[in-house]
Amino acid sequence: PYNGPSADQILEKRKKFLGPSLFYYYQKPLNIVEGKMQYLYDENGRRYLDAFAGIVTVSCGHCHPEVLNAITEQNKLLQHATTIYLHHAISDFAEALASKMPGNLKVVYFVNSGSEANELAMLMARLYSGNLGMISLRNAYHGGSSSTIGLTALNTWKYPIPEGEIHHVINPDPFRGVFGSDATRYAKDVQDHIEYGTSGKVAGFIAETIQGVGGAVELAPGYLKQVYDIVRKAGGVCIADEVQTGFGRTGSHYWGFETQGVIPDIVTMAKGIGNGLPLGAVVTTPEIAHVMAQKIQFNTFGGNPVCSAGGLAVLRVIDKEKRQAHCADVGSHLIGRLRSLQDKHDIIGDVRGRGLMVGVELVTDRKEKTPAKAETAILFEKMRELGVLLGKGGLHGNVFRIKPPMCFTKDDADYLVDALDYAMSEL
Ligand code: PMP
Repeated sequence: PYNGPSADQILEKRKKFLGPSLFYYYQKPLNIVEGKMQYLYDENGRRYLDAFAGIVTVSCGHCHPEVLNAITEQNKLLQHATTIYLHHAISDFAEALASKMPGNLKVVYFVNSGSEANELAMLMARLYSGNLGMISLRNAYHGGSSSTIGLTALNTWKYPIPEGEIHHVINPDPFRGVFGSDATRYAKDVQDHIEYGTSGKVAGFIAETIQGVGGAVELAPGYLKQVYDIVRKAGGVCIADEVQTGFGRTGSHYWGFETQGVIPDIVTMAKGIGNGLPLGAVVTTPEIAHVMAQKIQFNTFGGNPVCSAGGLAVLRVIDKEKRQAHCADVGSHLIGRLRSLQDKHDIIGDVRGRGLMVGVELVTDRKEKTPAKAETAILFEKMRELGVLLGKGGLHGNVFRIKPPMCFTKDDADYLVDALDYAMSEL
């Protein structure tokens, strides 16, 4: 049993000693003290079904035994020495990760977070292309560090600082986007930005294949193929941000970009790659890596033995437990049940996603698509009372993000949907 400080005591200390920009979910914040696979436990031992996985981070499951064992064994032997010495864990992990990549994506850089991965990717794009301009999608989230803030395009996450040359193009959002699912018209906006807003040359383009923070928004089918062509013709490289969508979560494919039939020049990863360890990676081609070799590129903790051993175990577990197929199976069941719920409750404006990367957008008026902001907040609290932890997303906070650990079962999905049905009926 837990005998640490109470939620109120922790909150008081947090307010006193931690930055006031920290936010928390729920009117009365939860004190989570333990995690086991798809479940979290609060200070009173109450169990919650975790449908948000620490913001899409816990891929294999909380404290997955095999990942935990790999970390523990490595911890006992050596925690840190840096890459100035050799260590097999980093090379083994890099080899395993490269084997998961298509095309010529064979060179791996390890960092500690998604923001760092995208910083490095942007640096690579600028060095390799010799250009400065970056293109990202409106509604994107690529990080909160002072340079990735420029790629991020949601006002809620942006401080007013100089961002360099960044162009935010129209989001190819099939539900809210001005061109519906017409990828060609959205791609034309990228061409227009290049023609009217740049010298005609750009450094690169970056996109999530399913926007996470933005509310589980899938890109219009065929969009990336057209945009990659346009960007490459303008001298830029194409970056896929797989921080949330990678490692089989989408079910149909191991990488989110594969759902659009493209091969990027640079892929960035974090979150699920470490099942909770602070770990990120950038994978690119030998040609792009070559320009980085003109200087020393160094990261003290990137690829440390403990994170590398854990990351390698994550790759192994996802394969061994056939998690990609599992995500496809459970995800289609979940999405099917949510679509049935949409027939029953007018507040559900859209159900979307792939595998276990699912969004439910709530609206007060289906025709106008008015964000049901207040209702979402009420339902969110109600779901917690019913023992289900969801994510919230979208600019207006009116999208439920359902992105559980990948061990989530059909029974869990049924419980979640039944709880949502009950909560909505009570609204
Ligand atoms: N890219 C995406 C798609 C993300 O969702 C996030 C985090 N929400 C990041 C990058 C930044 O990752 P981190 O918080 O690890 O810096």
